[in-house]
Amino acid sequence: MPSKETSPAERMARDEYYMRLAMAVRERASCLGSRVGAVLVLQDRVIATGYNGTPMGMKNCDEGGCDRCAHPERYPAGQGYDACICVHAEQNLLLTAARFGIAVRGAVVYTTMQPCFGCLKELLQAEIEAVYYLHPWQPPAHLQEQYERIQQAIPHGIRQVNIPDDRIAWAMPRRVAAETGHAAPPATDAE
Ligand SMILES: [Zn+2]
Ligand SMILES: [Zn+2]
Repeated sequence: MPSKETSPAERMARDEYYMRLAMAVRERASCLGSRVGAVLVLQDRVIATGYNGTPMGMKNCDEGGCDRCAHPERYPAGQGYDACICVHAEQNLLLTAARFGIAVRGAVVYTTMQPCFGCLKELLQAEIEAVYYLHPWQPPAHLQEQYERIQQAIPHGIRQVNIPDDRIAWAMPRRVAAETGHAAPPATDAE
């Protein structure tokens, strides 16, 4: 969180503290794709938390609730989020705040994955000041330029917080599988 009188060490400690909270929130994510947790921080206080998954009252993603997550081969990577019923962690942050009437203007977001194109524009429009993420996310090539423009409009920008993640294989099974050459665990036992 940007402020004037903090030393780099203090800022690092704070970034790590909030990122570890986001990682703890992530444990509740039930999405078959990447599992993401996020916290919304205003004036050094957590005001909302969010993780990704299907909306309340709907079948969980890991029980086959989301077609896109259950059948990633039908949708290009990084795209088709509009066809996904899973609500992203950052969206859930904003929606939780909305549900309880909590103002988010000027808050900062700590999220375990760099926001996707859709989330980033929503965070910008909610007047979020800064975004800190753990794992990078690459926008599809045709959205790269627009993504960067949105990124530059976030007042204090978006930046990676580098801390070890011993849950990465669980949180990002497909990415880890792609990087190691090992097959990802089956998405669902239906089909
Ligand atoms: Zn899902
Ligand atoms: Zn998103």
